[in-house]
Amino acid sequence: MTVKKKQAKGGSGGGLAMPKAPPLPPHPEHRGEPVRVGPYTILAGGIRDLVAEDLEKADVLIPLLDSLPRLEFGRPYQILAAPLADYGGVPNNWEQFLREQVIPLLATEKKVLAFCHGSHGRTGCFLASLIAILETPEETPDPIAAVRKRHCKKAVESQAQAEAVFALRGEKLPQKYSMEFTKKPATVWPLPQDNWWNFLPTAH
Ligand SMILES: [Zn+2]
Repeated sequence: MTVKKKQAKGGSGGGLAMPKAPPLPPHPEHRGEPVRVGPYTILAGGIRDLVAEDLEKADVLIPLLDSLPRLEFGRPYQILAAPLADYGGVPNNWEQFLREQVIPLLATEKKVLAFCHGSHGRTGCFLASLIAILETPEETPDPIAAVRKRHCKKAVESQAQAEAVFALRGEKLPQKYSMEFTKKPATVWPLPQDNWWNFLPTAH
């Protein structure tokens, strides 16, 4: 078995590890923290972080994927299933689902916990969609910016999710989001800046 050699700067030698760069601030766990959507509050999480006790905070679970967090033996759960494709869009009846099933549920003042895997893409889309419906464009012109501020800066992960949010208001996706979700074009070999004319065919 081979061992990768570390490049030692400064000649400290002796196999000591070099000082590491300071670690980035840890990403917060998403274990069902409250997020405001219009006049209501939703608990939002990801099964990556949720533990069984976190589910005790909720009366109703809305899994936005096909999996569930760890469950407690012998405890009943109320589940409103809404599995979405990871990095995908939403079904055709998304608005109907939100207006006829989710919002009336929130109006009963039951505590609702919505979650996906990481609490970013699908949960972000769900929260931003509710903001798009429950808050006016004057109050909250950009529901994606709002959910990134209220929940997590990584919320909403795909163009399809972002388009679904603005479609609820009959709006096209703002260009800044099209840019964000469009893959960067391949690097173009740069022409020399100063004497590009040297590459022109010589006239005879
Ligand atoms: Zn996050």
